[in-house]
Amino acid sequence: MAGPDGRRAATVAVMNERLPALPEDWDRALAVVAHPDDIEYGTASAVARWTAQGKQVTYLLASRGEAGIDSMHPELAGPLRETEERAGAREVGVETVEFLDHRDGMIEYGIALRRDIARTVRRYQPEVIVTGAYGVRMVAGMTNQADHRAVGLAALDAARDAGNRWFFPELADEGLAPWGGVRYVCVAGGDQPTHGVDVTGEPLRRGIASLTAHAEYIKGLGAGGFEPGQFLTWAAGTGGQAMGVESAVLFDVHVLGFEGLPPWLAPDAAAG
Ligand SMILES: [Zn+2]
Repeated sequence: MAGPDGRRAATVAVMNERLPALPEDWDRALAVVAHPDDIEYGTASAVARWTAQGKQVTYLLASRGEAGIDSMHPELAGPLRETEERAGAREVGVETVEFLDHRDGMIEYGIALRRDIARTVRRYQPEVIVTGAYGVRMVAGMTNQADHRAVGLAALDAARDAGNRWFFPELADEGLAPWGGVRYVCVAGGDQPTHGVDVTGEPLRRGIASLTAHAEYIKGLGAGGFEPGQFLTWAAGTGGQAMGVESAVLFDVHVLGFEGLPPWLAPDAAAG
């Protein structure tokens, strides 16, 4: 998957400046992705670390990934992949997995998707949202997939939509109060990470178990015999170099709102 360019990027990062750790002074996160297995390609190891700390993490999937197995009709693949996603979630301490039933491969960025995500944000009131890269290019120069682009951008927007009482009045009619408490939107798989999560040891082991739970999907990948442990250990090792630890998952973190005083009110603002 990631080629020589990814290794070179990580080497450059370690030569310049190490990425800081993502703050962990929060209690609830919501992971929002397009398909079963999206969280498991790395992020799940960070989820394992967080749930071990007692944090509550909930998964929201825009589709059931029903078009993800070439040899299997979507009517069969959808329920199978849902089962594998729930099993993978349990490996990293996540009990609540919800599906929006947008159509796999055809997910559209737009008001309907933003509303559906905002509804879940209001219900679970997360302080952190984790999602996937929404650029055309992603980590190691790979080309991103259409559903991923739609869902990642919609998750970032819904983090704010959820806090506006005048957006989506139908949500208020459902009894869901605005939630403006999202502090960070953490984007996985981007080519410009800003923060890391140390997953050395047990979190990485549980993350590997989480991807391994997608057994039928991995079998469907066919030739080459993709091995989750080999891939995730390599990817986390590359991330670890950027952070100065053995294994890490990296995120491009959007901080929603200023932490402490905004820069123009800081004591040294006048001094420039
Ligand atoms: Zn995907």
